[in-house]
Amino acid sequence: MLTDYHVHLRPDEDGTTAARYFTAANAERYREVAAERGIEELGVAEHVHRFTAALDVWQHPFWRREARDDLDDYVTFVREETDLRLGIEADFVPGREDRMAALLEQHEWDYVVGSVHFLGDFAVDWDDEEIDIWRRESSPERVWKRYFDAVRASALSGLYDIIGHPDLVKIWGSGRPMPDTDLRRYYEPAVEAMLDAGVAMEVSTAGLRKPVAEIYPARAMLEMAVDAKLPIALSSDAHLPTQIGSGYEQAVELLRDCGVREICVFERRVRRLEPLG
Ligand SMILES: [Zn+2]
Ligand SMILES: [Zn+2]
Repeated sequence: MLTDYHVHLRPDEDGTTAARYFTAANAERYREVAAERGIEELGVAEHVHRFTAALDVWQHPFWRREARDDLDDYVTFVREETDLRLGIEADFVPGREDRMAALLEQHEWDYVVGSVHFLGDFAVDWDDEEIDIWRRESSPERVWKRYFDAVRASALSGLYDIIGHPDLVKIWGSGRPMPDTDLRRYYEPAVEAMLDAGVAMEVSTAGLRKPVAEIYPARAMLEMAVDAKLPIALSSDAHLPTQIGSGYEQAVELLRDCGVREICVFERRVRRLEPLG
């Protein structure tokens, strides 16, 4: 079994619209590439900030700019016009857990992917003067500590089934300074929290397409997760049909090498394991 659950039907670029990308024909393009690449389980997890309902959770200026779509329409579209699993990528916004829970409870998802992109008002993965955390924090240790504290809290929040791109903070590779320490000190509390919370950890090939050019998470974090017997969910974070299953040969090799034999399959927020590959 191969899965691709963390998938976006709509690219992130400005000016894209639901009317153009949330269509049966577009979903079919994703399905065709998935079939070619042997991916049986395919689902979508659109960014929560695309939906007007997200503004009840958080009023970040970026969300205010991006929130255009109707959440009910997205859910109805995926359920009625596609055969894709229904998910959502929902940011972890500390202090707004109840509001996010209220949003998520409105629909019957197959899974919810939890992501940390923001630390306070600033983002770890956005090279923009206004928003980049790296231009504000005093040291890489501070950024990494804050990032993994948030990942840990996201796992323990009980909001999510999958913790997405679990070491996203490394996205810039050598483009940003690295903490001068054994990185396992950051991974460990996050992996422990995922274990305690009973959530799955995502292995995402998206990192291969980013400056870091490495799968999320780093091998050392994956090994730690395997030791802890954390369930693993495999996704590409595709934003285009051609990105479905991208880098999976490398991902499957890494997973096998680290001793992962099974991956997660989700239906209506119930998880089961299927043999990898
Ligand atoms: Zn993300
Ligand atoms: Zn994503």
